[in-house]
Amino acid sequence: MSSTATSSPKTFRVKSFGCQMNVYDGERMAELLAAEGMSAAGDGDDADLVVLNTCHIREKATEKVYSDIGRLRREDGSAPMIAVAGCVAQAEGEEIMTRAPSVKVVVGPQSYHRLPEMVAEAASGKRATETDMPAEAKFAALPKRRKSAPTAFLTVQEGCDKFCTYCVVPYTRGAEISRPFADLIEEAKLLVAGGAREITLLGQNVNAWTGEDDKGRSIGLDGLARALAADPDLKRIRYTTSHPNDMTDGLIAAHAELEKLMPFLHLPVQAGSDRVLKAMNRSHTADSYLKVLDRIRAARPDIALSGDFIVGFPGETDAEFEETLRLVDAVGYAQAFSFKYSARPGTPAATMPDHVPAAVMDERLQRLQAALNRDQLAFNQGSVGKTCEVLVERKGKHPGQWLGKSPWLQSVHFVGEAEIGQMVTVKLVEAGPNSLAGQLV
Ligand code: SAM
Ligand code: SF4
Repeated sequence: MSSTATSSPKTFRVKSFGCQMNVYDGERMAELLAAEGMSAAGDGDDADLVVLNTCHIREKATEKVYSDIGRLRREDGSAPMIAVAGCVAQAEGEEIMTRAPSVKVVVGPQSYHRLPEMVAEAASGKRATETDMPAEAKFAALPKRRKSAPTAFLTVQEGCDKFCTYCVVPYTRGAEISRPFADLIEEAKLLVAGGAREITLLGQNVNAWTGEDDKGRSIGLDGLARALAADPDLKRIRYTTSHPNDMTDGLIAAHAELEKLMPFLHLPVQAGSDRVLKAMNRSHTADSYLKVLDRIRAARPDIALSGDFIVGFPGETDAEFEETLRLVDAVGYAQAFSFKYSARPGTPAATMPDHVPAAVMDERLQRLQAALNRDQLAFNQGSVGKTCEVLVERKGKHPGQWLGKSPWLQSVHFVGEAEIGQMVTVKLVEAGPNSLAGQLV
């Protein structure tokens, strides 16, 4: 494929959509481009290169990419160089190249280390596509990390072998791989040296991470968290997203032992009906999920729980949906994400019978979200009166106001003397649905 040559881009913008792993990938792409001498375009400035780092997880993902491409056209009819990255690129790269001539680069999530050379190819007039899946080559080829916000993401595991019947991730992100221990320790050290005080370990199935430590011992995610916790300048460790079947005794015990491992667990369940869970190929039941939560609560009684839910999976009846509401009542989530089922082409669920009408899904989602919002507010109200540490992330809207997170991942605002990256002790004095007010102690 070829098109006319354009000049090499000097400025870029990376727009990431979807999950936190995409946010991580977007940061790494920005670092790669900066290492090539390009600079990030300022807010509102025109960029010579725009990378759309896409998400394919839910409905209309592809249409959204085409409309984003259309919106990048400038008033004079010209357009920046457009690169489409992420899971839509992986799944629909060829089609994008055919339908959108303004796209010059298509790069999948496992090959974005090649982005600079692909941009150079595109500047010389040759459109470039790369959707191979050599995941480990990518990490080795990325530049070293230099700067970090107080909270940083670190991808430790990629891909998924679970094949839930609704999900595209095993097809777009490939087979499960764990990055090597030594590489992760090194990247974490650089993040901390660059300013990170909290690291969130990321993976589609982060708690399936395995590796060998520096003494050659086989370890799981708890072993990695223990090793990271030894760095005195790293104050907090989080991880997401976990699968209920991979919550090992070791990881649960780490929540009791490791002060730096924050009392928060995002553990998606998706539905409360065992028949639906089986049709989803989740390989856990509602009861086995609740038992995992009992174990984690025994280890860390103040743990804040979070989850993901899908309403309207094909064939889900009203009674089965009620089971989801009952599970929500039983757990009392501190926060959660909930979605209407959307058929993803190529997944087994897409061809299952009895798709649930949109109006029914809407109604179920509203009821589920009302229950989840009620519990989130109750959790926040239950925190009022507690004194806790807050990691200061940024300034607030009002003079002297600062924003940060509690150990339970709640947003906390307070007024007083502080600086970004500092851990301050705060008494929580007032709760809203999405944040809490604190007073410096
Ligand atoms: N690996 C994680 C897990 O097992 O939960 C994250 C997968 S996905 C990036 C995040 C969430 O998107 C899933 O937990 C699920 O609730 C939702 N999701 C995935 N596929 C979906 C679909 N086809 N329709 C609606 N929601 C979907
Ligand atoms: Fe998708 Fe299931 Fe894998 Fe999560 S565990 S990424 S929902 S297939």
